[in-house]
Amino acid sequence: MERTTPGGSWPEKRVNEFLDQISAGGDDYRRLVERLPAIVYASELGENGRWRYVSPQVEEILGYTPEEWLADEELWASLLHPEDRERALSQETRKTMGNRNPPPVDYRMVTRDGRTVWILDEAVLEPDEDGTPIWHGVLYDITERKLAEQEARRAAAQQAAVARLGGRALKDGDPDILMGEAVSLMGEIEGVDSACIWEIGRDGRRLGLRAGLEDRIVGAARASAARDSHAGAALDSRLHVIVDDWSSERRFSMPPALRAIGVRSSLAVPIDGKQQPFGVLDVHSTEPNRFTPQDVHFVQALANVLADAIERHATDQALRHRVLHDSLTGLPNRLSFVESLSDALKRSTVSGSPVGLLFLDLDNFKLINDSLGHHAGDELLRAVAPRLRGHLRPGDIVARFGGDEFGILVDRLADEDEAVAIADRIAAAFAEPYAMGGVDHFVSASVGIAVARPSAREPVEADMLIRDADAAMYRAKERGRGRCELFDAEMRARALRRLEVERELRQALERNELELHYQPVITLRSGEITGLEALVRWRHPERGLLDPGDFVSVAEDSGLIEPIGHWVQEVACRQVLEWHELRPDRRPFDVSVNLSARQVTNRDLAISIGEILAGSGLDPVHLRLEVTESALVEESTTATGTLEALSDLGVGLVLDDFGTGYSSLAYLNRFPFDALKIDRSFVDALGVEQERTAIVEAIVGMARALSLEVIAEGVENEVQLAELVRLGCDQAQGHLFSRALPAEKITALLGEGAPLYSGIVPGR
Ligand code: C2E
Ligand code: MG
Ligand code: MG
Repeated sequence: MERTTPGGSWPEKRVNEFLDQISAGGDDYRRLVERLPAIVYASELGENGRWRYVSPQVEEILGYTPEEWLADEELWASLLHPEDRERALSQETRKTMGNRNPPPVDYRMVTRDGRTVWILDEAVLEPDEDGTPIWHGVLYDITERKLAEQEARRAAAQQAAVARLGGRALKDGDPDILMGEAVSLMGEIEGVDSACIWEIGRDGRRLGLRAGLEDRIVGAARASAARDSHAGAALDSRLHVIVDDWSSERRFSMPPALRAIGVRSSLAVPIDGKQQPFGVLDVHSTEPNRFTPQDVHFVQALANVLADAIERHATDQALRHRVLHDSLTGLPNRLSFVESLSDALKRSTVSGSPVGLLFLDLDNFKLINDSLGHHAGDELLRAVAPRLRGHLRPGDIVARFGGDEFGILVDRLADEDEAVAIADRIAAAFAEPYAMGGVDHFVSASVGIAVARPSAREPVEADMLIRDADAAMYRAKERGRGRCELFDAEMRARALRRLEVERELRQALERNELELHYQPVITLRSGEITGLEALVRWRHPERGLLDPGDFVSVAEDSGLIEPIGHWVQEVACRQVLEWHELRPDRRPFDVSVNLSARQVTNRDLAISIGEILAGSGLDPVHLRLEVTESALVEESTTATGTLEALSDLGVGLVLDDFGTGYSSLAYLNRFPFDALKIDRSFVDALGVEQERTAIVEAIVGMARALSLEVIAEGVENEVQLAELVRLGCDQAQGHLFSRALPAEKITALLGEGAPLYSGIVPGR
C-alpha cells in the first residue's frame, strides 16, 4: 500500500466556500481560480483529449507545469493508477453531455516523483462554440481524507477483531482453536498478508510454528528463540519488534518459513504469561514498511487475549489433572475412573460387548504400613501401579481408588472368562517381590471381578458395578486372600441385604429401636460383680431382637456407628450412675463400652466422651472403653493420639479380643492400656488344648509384668473357670455367670445383692 504526503492542500469545504464566493460576484475570476487549492481545467473528451487549460496548481499537486501538461495530451491518462484506470476512463463518453450535475469520480494518480495521490474529479461535459464536447472541471487532492478514512476502517476492523477473539476466548477455552482463529482474523485486516504464532520449545532455545502459514509452507517451521531472530528478540525483550524491510534487514536473520512466502515486512509481539512467555504473534506483509505504531497496539491486544486464554487453559488443565488423578501414583483416581466406566457402559449398550471391572485390594497393607512405616507403604503403592499396567491390554484403565484399593477397567470383553483370565494375569504382578525400605517383600492382592452387559432396557450404573466388584473382593479376602472371585447372584443378594439394613438402621435411632444390654463382669476372687459390659441390641420391628453381628459392620461401613456409638456412651453412663445409687454402700462398679476402629480414628472422640461424662456426672474412672487390636492396626497414628487423650480424661482402656490380632505385644507397649481381655477362642481351649492353654498362661504372666488387669471373656464352663483361677486371671464374663441382660433384669440382679457366682475354687 502506497503512502503519500499531500502538499498543503485546502480541505474540500474551504474550496467549495471559495467557489461560492466566486459565483456570488467575484470579479477577477482568473486570479481567484489560480489561488484555489485545486486544479481547474478544460479539456477535450477522450483518453487522449487535448487539454485547453489547466491551472498552475497542477504543478504543486502532480508535479508537472501547466505548459508540460498542455503539451502532452497523453499525460493525464498515463498518470492514472493502474487499479483505477478503467474506472476513470469510463467517464470519457458523451453520455453525460449536457448533464449539469454528473456524479464526481475519484481515482488515484501517480505524481512526477512517484507518490500516489487521490483525486476527486468534478466536471461537466459541454460543447464549445464549435460543438466539440469539452470537460470543464476541478481536480481536488483528497489524499488526506482518503487516508484518514482508510485508517479509520483499519482501526474499526482491528477493534472488531480483538472483540471477536475475546468473545471466542470466553466461549471456547481451547488455545489451539483460538490461535487458529487469531491468525485468520489477522489475515482479514487490510495490509496484513499472513500471520503466524511461534511457540517456545521445551528447551527454550527454539520457536516452533504453532499456528498460521500452514497451507503455505513445507518443511522446517522453526525459528531461533534468541536475539538473532526477530521473534526471538520480541520474546527476549518482551516488547514488539518491527522489521521494515527484510531485504535490507541486518539485525535479524529471516526464518525460512517467511522466506518461502515472500514476506517483506513483519511485526512480532510477545505472547506473555505470568510465569513465562508462551511465544510470539507475528504478522507479515509482502510489502515493505507496512506496520505502524497503531498496528503494534492492535497486534499486542490480540496477543494479550491469547496469553490470557492460554494461561487460563493451562490452569484449568492443571486443576483438572489434580482433580482426576491420584498424587501418589499419578494414576487416575476414583472420580475419573467412574467417568471412564460410565462411558464404557454407555458404549457397551450399543456394541453389546461386556464391560469388566476388577477391584483389587492389597493384602495386609495396614500391617506393612504399620510395621515398615508409611514411606514403605507409599513406595509399595507406587511400585504396584506400573506393574499392574504391564499386565494389561493397551486400552485398559488402572485407577487408584484410595488406600490400597485399585480399580481396573477392562472394556470390550468377549465374555466373563476373559475378565477372569485378565485377573489371573494380574496375579503375576505379585509373583515377584517388592523392594520396600531396601528389603524385598512378597505382597499379595485380593481381586473381585464384576462383569456387566448393559442394554438400553437394563442399563448398569458405574457405582453399582464398582459395588459388585467390591463385594466380590471381600469374598476373595474371606476365602483366604491372594485370590480372585467373580461377583455372583448370591453376593448380589447379600449386598442388597446390607443396603436394606443400612436404610433401616438410619431410622432405628430416631425410632428408638436400639437398646443396651449389659453383661456382668465378675471378679474371680469373690464372684462379685465389678463391672458391666454394655452391648448394643436392635429391636427390629419385623426381625425381632438383633445382635451386633447383624448390623454393626453395616453401621461401621456407613458411618452410622458414630451416632450409634454416641448414643451407647450416653445411655451407658447415665444407666450405671443410676445403679450406683441403688447400692450406695458398695464399691461402685465400672461400665465398659465398645469402640469400633472408625470411632477411634475420630480425633474428636475424647472431647465428645469428656462432654458425656461431664453431662452425666459419672466419675471417669468408672468408664472403660474397649478397643480391638484391628482398630489399632488400621490407623495407628491417629489412634495413638485419641487413646492418649482418652487416658488423660481418666477413663480406663481395655484391649478387647486379645490374641486375635497380628502383633499384640507391640500394641500393649505402645498404647496406654489398663487391661486386656483374652479372646473367647483362647478361653474355649482352656484345659482342652495344651498349646493354647500355655499361651493364656504366658499372656497372664506378661500382663502381670506390665501391671495390666486380665479379663477373660466367653467363660462357659467350670473347666475354663478353674483354669482361669489357676492361672491367676483377675476378672471374667461369660454365660457361666450371666448372659447380657436388659437393664431391668440387671436392676433386679443388683437388688438381690448376692454374689453372681459362688462356685469359685480358690486358685492354687
Ligand atoms: P465383644 O466386645 O467381644 O463382646 C462380647 C461378645 O461375646 C458379646 O456378643 C457377648 O454377648 C458375647 N458373649 C459373652 N459371653 C459369652 C459366652 O459365654 N459365650 C459366647 N459364645 N458368647 C458370649 P455380642 O453382644 O453379640 O457383641 C458382639 C460384638 O459386637 C462385641 O464383641 C463388640 O465387639 C461389638 N459390639 C457390641 N456392642 C457394641 C457397641 O455398642 N459399639 C460397638 N462399636 N461395638 C459393639
Ligand atoms: Mg467388648
Ligand atoms: Mg471381645
